[in-house]
Amino acid sequence: MVDRIKILIIEDDQYISNFIAVSLMKSNYEVFVSSTAAEGLFLFSSHRPDLILLDLGLPDQDGLEIIKALREFSEIPILVVSARGQELEKIEALDSGANDYISKPFHMGELMARIRVAERYLSAGTAPSQETEFDCDYLHVDFEKRQVMIDGQEIHLTPIEYKLLLLLIANRGKVLTHNYIVKKIWGYENESDTKSVRVFMANLRRKIEKDSAKHRFIMTEVGVGYRFSDE
Ligand code: CA
Repeated sequence: MVDRIKILIIEDDQYISNFIAVSLMKSNYEVFVSSTAAEGLFLFSSHRPDLILLDLGLPDQDGLEIIKALREFSEIPILVVSARGQELEKIEALDSGANDYISKPFHMGELMARIRVAERYLSAGTAPSQETEFDCDYLHVDFEKRQVMIDGQEIHLTPIEYKLLLLLIANRGKVLTHNYIVKKIWGYENESDTKSVRVFMANLRRKIEKDSAKHRFIMTEVGVGYRFSDE
């Protein structure tokens, strides 16, 4: 049996953190709980968790600062647990490198599902850039040949659409904000051209999605950005 997955909860609401901790322990996760940013960072360095559940409003520091600090040296999956009305903070958290978010109040089943997605990100191990091919349902991408196939038929993508597809695949399961996509595709110079993201995304979808009413690959996170299906 593999080592149990270690989850660090950084949340100052004791009721919520207890509730999450108990449920996670029942599901056989090893859990560490902290109620402040300082303690959370301490537990991070002393216990090397595999995943962090992070509340944004903490008594001693903004959760965003934790994300920025951790992203200087760690790629640990960070799942933000945000309160209602924290839309901007939530987007900023994702921009800063959080993997995903869940809004309070949430069902434990929903949180568990998000954690399982993050776990797959852990077990994927090798960096997506080292993959030479990607297969999912009727979509096949050959990175070396720069070839995209739908049901075995090659389709043509523009260079930007192809870059967008690679970015989505490399981050599958993770929510990518509009700003993040702009930065990755056009570089830091091009500031807030999120409108073109929508246009390119629509074109890409038209080419790779069979059902425009029910997307198989590129999911919209309303008001936030996009997420590529991880299954
Ligand atoms: Ca809080």
